[in-house]
Amino acid sequence: MIVVLKKDATQEQLDHIVASIREWGLGTELSGSKTQRMVDVIGDEDLARSKPIEAFPGVDRVLQVQKPYKRASLEFKPERTRITIPAIGQSGREIVIGGKEIIVSAGPCSVEGRKMLIDIGSAIRASGAAILRGGAFKPRSSPYSFQGLGMEGIRYLREVREKLGMPIVTEVMDTRDVDLIDEFSDIIQIGARNMQNFSLLKAVGFAKKPVLLKRGLASTIEELLMSAEYIMNRGNEQIILCERGIRTFERYTRNTLDLSAVAVLKNETHLPVLVDPSHATGRRDLIAPMSRAAVAAGADALMVEVHNDPKTALSDGPQALLPKDFDDLMQDLGKVATAIGRTLGKQ
Ligand code: PEP
Ligand code: MN
Repeated sequence: MIVVLKKDATQEQLDHIVASIREWGLGTELSGSKTQRMVDVIGDEDLARSKPIEAFPGVDRVLQVQKPYKRASLEFKPERTRITIPAIGQSGREIVIGGKEIIVSAGPCSVEGRKMLIDIGSAIRASGAAILRGGAFKPRSSPYSFQGLGMEGIRYLREVREKLGMPIVTEVMDTRDVDLIDEFSDIIQIGARNMQNFSLLKAVGFAKKPVLLKRGLASTIEELLMSAEYIMNRGNEQIILCERGIRTFERYTRNTLDLSAVAVLKNETHLPVLVDPSHATGRRDLIAPMSRAAVAAGADALMVEVHNDPKTALSDGPQALLPKDFDDLMQDLGKVATAIGRTLGKQ
């Protein structure tokens, strides 16, 4: 149960609500934001339901949420969340994720250098991508693989961001870097391997920027939503959920793209959904068909890896499109979007 306070509830009223709930043997946790304060009631739901909390001074409403995830659920908030990314500079435009437009983010797996990022960024922008992706802190399975350029990579991302008027998304792996990524990136990415790194989730819960939360390699949809809940519980409600493939017995693809997750998430949550066909399949030739399918299934956004020389890429070359193939994909996506009454949201 969640007790939503009136905007003008006093501290005295809040203290009284909390003290009463505790007297009944239930736990409380304060949550929400400065403008929308809430009290989570922890413990026996039936007992909580039997109490007249709604009548307490300072209470706006009481929400009975049946699902284990509360803030993320469509029951809790029936209107869809739209995440606004402000325009960058004179040449950029405001982007909304979760609205009518399908938003495409593209770029290299890893930022490998300044020139490659400028070249790839310019190409994808010309094709209509709305957001530039690129990893600076890379979560690699082997400690001997390229680990990313770190801060140098962030500097290149910033430079290309300003030059092209394009927002950026990059991964944070360590709680100690959250403030840095929050300051420099327009969207903070939590990678699949960190989906249940609860310290990291709590830390980005206090960040100002939207979070792209990737589904873990072997995580259920419910676990993904519970991870979103960790972030929302701290006050950051701007979350984009990402389906990026899960591990199955199938070996033709790197992972198995769970497209049904898109439709399930649309039924369960108001948060926007993004599909990453690159990590889901691991195969360049499958990116276009899976991207088209994802948009048809209701995804709000896509994230595609693009590289100008995939053979020499320092990570994930086999799952990167060449810029010209990305351009073809964008043409196709425009048609799929139109067919389902949406549009492709270009920069
Ligand atoms: C990535 O997007 O670069 C990445 C590492 O993805 P994931 O966390 O989904 O493996
Ligand atoms: Mn990658």
